[in-house]
Amino acid sequence: MKQALLITAIVWMWVTGCGHFCAHAAGNVYPLVAEGEFFDIYADPRIDIESLLSRVNFDYFYQLEMIGPVKEGGQAPSPRQVLSKTLDGIYLEVCDTLGIGLYSFHGNLKIFPDQQSLSDEYRAMFQSDFTERSFYFHETNTLYVSAADLTVGIIVHEIAHVVMSHYFVVPPSAKLQEILSGYVEYHFRKQLGTL
Ligand SMILES: [Zn+2]
Repeated sequence: MKQALLITAIVWMWVTGCGHFCAHAAGNVYPLVAEGEFFDIYADPRIDIESLLSRVNFDYFYQLEMIGPVKEGGQAPSPRQVLSKTLDGIYLEVCDTLGIGLYSFHGNLKIFPDQQSLSDEYRAMFQSDFTERSFYFHETNTLYVSAADLTVGIIVHEIAHVVMSHYFVVPPSAKLQEILSGYVEYHFRKQLGTL
């Protein structure tokens, strides 16, 4: 969203050697619940991951990327494993939609139970109010979302910001990023019939 984009633009810089610490740089400390190829996922332990998965249409991304469900040792994958694979699948599909092949990316996703806890985190980080349902902050290499409000449209929109923020040496303007993220969101919502 615009506010997060402004922040992205202002603090534009590459963050290296940051690792897991960054997900805990401010506000709540949540445990690492899953590790994927592109995202380490931290979440409030109370969050129902299966419900989250259905709201981001995980089966659609599984099908597209042929990423599962793969049985390991005769066991069906856990919801946490499915979540990390789904995020990887969404990331690859967003890259494909933007025509950007950025496969070296690795960042964090931090999942809050609701908008209130997300805005508390935002306040701890930036000392200002926050009324949106998600944001991406380039300096911590972290995407922050509210589980209660998460939709496939939100996640693809924010991942588009992540991809653009990491791909371009000179970042596109906030306005251009918003247009492109909006296009990615429209594309997937149309595919999934959630417009
Ligand atoms: Zn946006």
